[in-house]
Amino acid sequence: MKAIVYGGPGRKSWTDVPDPTIQNPGDAIVKVDTTTICGTDLHILKGDVPAVREGRVLGHEGVGTVTEVGQSVTSLRPGDRVIISCIKSCGHCANCKSGLYSHCLGDEGASGIGWVFGHLIDGTQAEYVRVPYAENSLHLLPAGVTDEQAVMLSDILPTGFEIGVQYGRVKPGDTVAVIGAGPVGLAAIATAGLYGAAAIIAVDLDANRLEKSREFGATHVIASGDADWKEQLLALTDGQGVDVAIEAVGIPDTFSMCTEIVRPGGNVANVGVHGKPVQLHLEDLWIRNINISMGLVNANTTAMLLKLVAQKKLPAEKFATHRFRFDEFMDAYDTFARAAETNALKVVITA
Ligand code: NAD
Ligand code: ZN
Repeated sequence: MKAIVYGGPGRKSWTDVPDPTIQNPGDAIVKVDTTTICGTDLHILKGDVPAVREGRVLGHEGVGTVTEVGQSVTSLRPGDRVIISCIKSCGHCANCKSGLYSHCLGDEGASGIGWVFGHLIDGTQAEYVRVPYAENSLHLLPAGVTDEQAVMLSDILPTGFEIGVQYGRVKPGDTVAVIGAGPVGLAAIATAGLYGAAAIIAVDLDANRLEKSREFGATHVIASGDADWKEQLLALTDGQGVDVAIEAVGIPDTFSMCTEIVRPGGNVANVGVHGKPVQLHLEDLWIRNINISMGLVNANTTAMLLKLVAQKKLPAEKFATHRFRFDEFMDAYDTFARAAETNALKVVITA
């Protein structure tokens, strides 16, 4: 089969690799029909994630068709259409049993981490992928949900909702600011209303992304390049700050921005993947009763979000901006990597 193979920092190719085979009784082989590219894949290609070794097939998002299942798999059959979750979960370790699938102790790739595709085992930017613990790591797709909608449920929608909105404890009437209106920030914007946010403020440097964010439910937008961005934002509150500030970029500046705009008693929910230390001004913050949260997505809300997509209550299709075929995969990467020029949000690649 063909796959996107990591060749070390700065190198990747769409090239021939052996077809995956069933290795454990809980595995399934899935023919990938639709996949996409994540900002994390770009981090890997920069060499920021050294655990990814040369020769690894990249990708942790995908929708496909089951072609083969291991002996212990009873709830899936060849021909089933499925969403591949970015998190594998064995379902029976202590962490899975407490809902912390992101830290599944199942011994696949590495114990203690749920994100393995395109990281510690071969991923989804391929014609076929082996899915461990298939009964937990795959979600059956109902008729009526398109591949393009479903592929947004592999990672970005659960991430924005769980680590942004749920960890941020959004509640009815809240004013929520989301710093960073990329796919993950937009997913938080699109799901903040589920818990009754009254105002959702998108903050980004990129005017195109701010404009887009209105389509996902932002009630206000602020260009963080404006010298008075903070005054503009505080003017949208009672002057005390927002109830919840969601960080969806992954740099020190934007984390600090969140701590500066949150009201006393409010929540800062960090979603961004950080590569550098962040200064935490506890000398100012301690007296303000602020909660700070962070984490790797558990993907425990995927089935619920899928129902909302199926009922047309969540516009998952709006994330897809560019479409490619598998033999144009390298162009898809190029378009995604130049998102500021191409206005790409999610690029969708189909077989
Ligand atoms: P992205 O790079 O597409 O979007 C980031 C956005 O931030 C862009 O729109 C950019 O214009 C904006 N931005 C950059 N600097 C800014 C600044 N100073 N002020 C305001 N906006 C600024 O990324 P994405 O795919 O949306 O992902 C967002 C973050 O979430 C990344 O760090 C990603 O690695 C992380 N992530 C975390 C998890 C998790 O489980 N916690 C899962 C997936 C992704
Ligand atoms: Zn587990």
